[in-house]
Amino acid sequence: MHEQDTEGVKIGLEVHCQLTSLATKLFCSSPSDYRGKPPNTNICPVCIGTPGSLPVLNRKAVTHAAMIALALNFKIPERMLFFRKNYFYPDMAKNFQITQYDRAGGVPFATDGHITLDSGKRIRIGRMQLEEDPAKLSYDGTIESSTQTFVDYNRAGITLVEIVTDPDFESPREAREFLNKLSSILEHLSVSDLNLEGSVRCDANISMAGGRRVEVKNISSFKEVERALNFEITRQRSLTSKGIKVMQETRHWDEIRRITISLRLKEEEQDYRYFPEADLVPVTLTKQFVQDVKKGMPEMPEERAKRFQKDYHLSGETAQILVREKALADFFEEAAKHSKDARQLGSWLAVDLQAYLNEYGKSLEELKLTPKHFAEMANMVSSGEVSRGAAKTAFVEMLKTGRMPRSISEEKGLKVISDTGFVESLIDKIFSENPQAVQDALKDPKAVNFLLGQIMRATKGRVDPAVANRLVRERLAAAKGSK
Ligand SMILES: [Zn+2]
Repeated sequence: MHEQDTEGVKIGLEVHCQLTSLATKLFCSSPSDYRGKPPNTNICPVCIGTPGSLPVLNRKAVTHAAMIALALNFKIPERMLFFRKNYFYPDMAKNFQITQYDRAGGVPFATDGHITLDSGKRIRIGRMQLEEDPAKLSYDGTIESSTQTFVDYNRAGITLVEIVTDPDFESPREAREFLNKLSSILEHLSVSDLNLEGSVRCDANISMAGGRRVEVKNISSFKEVERALNFEITRQRSLTSKGIKVMQETRHWDEIRRITISLRLKEEEQDYRYFPEADLVPVTLTKQFVQDVKKGMPEMPEERAKRFQKDYHLSGETAQILVREKALADFFEEAAKHSKDARQLGSWLAVDLQAYLNEYGKSLEELKLTPKHFAEMANMVSSGEVSRGAAKTAFVEMLKTGRMPRSISEEKGLKVISDTGFVESLIDKIFSENPQAVQDALKDPKAVNFLLGQIMRATKGRVDPAVANRLVRERLAAAKGSK
């Protein structure tokens, strides 16, 4: 991606993440699995707020949110309250959203968390809230030109965790790294399937030196965030360069056209008239509860990277790349069971495979390869059967066809040649074709490299270099002796 000048840039993120691991919604027993259902069939009186219906808090939602809070180094207050955020908008039938609030006596689910980037820089996450998802709106045509809006309440009431960072990012790249780490943590916790459509949404606020704060809403995947931010930096810089002031406003990210569009100019914070949700009693999260959640936590990506370094002797960098996606880390560990050289294996997966996937815009799942493919690849190289250079040919062929690397190597004749008889006859040929080079090599040891180079060239680098070196020097020594 195009790198730009990011001086004076300040970015903050607000991430909404559905807890797709839950069977039911946050305050009722309607199923969490709303996707693919006909509109307005996955609802009950509670989630559409008919008179007399009462919310009941989903206990598992609290446990899963606590796992996220602990993984993100948050403090969890002992008392948990819900607030009503009042607004008139068709995406909440009851005209308020049950959420949490950090003012008026309210406390968020958790406070003062952080994620540390690879550079050691700490990104502060001020608060995390538990709240219900609103309904999904759709338009006929684009958001700007539509004359009709459709409302589907199937999603209303789904459990959301809202994570709000401080404006600590100084570039879109840092924001991407943060989101990569966050998504790996959520994957390792198995609380949210980020591949499901609509399971994450992101808002980003961005300001540049001397400019006002612009908020970009509705970024529907982590991958799009960096793109939207890069667009905004270019847009704001171009305004400033023409002497136009950047206004404080809310903009929408249009994924198809890859631009942001102005939604509304914001004069001041909207007043949602928050007040405590009287239908839900305050919940006490005891120290014992937090301890129990902590004990039940699976291994997190940072710990896993450390274990990879220790158990498999990987470099810190390789380990970090492997744990960036849980699926890749799992794949590596499975392959390591079949491999004699985990370090070699780690480098094929973290370096060569990643380069290929980036170049062709593919994912590991799409390649339909098994851990055994990569284990065999690593074994072939570490045993000296194939040189790393020649192995690269087999590797690319393996990724393209799904064939096992050894059979590719055999078919393409990639095996290292250490058969001395063959190498001897090759030396005969090279020496007779290059008499001057042989004369030079007899006088100057450095000139031997030319002859070795000819041997490698004739075999496309497949001759075992140690064998070639030894035999060429023996032959030269014999020629000197017979003079
Ligand atoms: Zn319901």
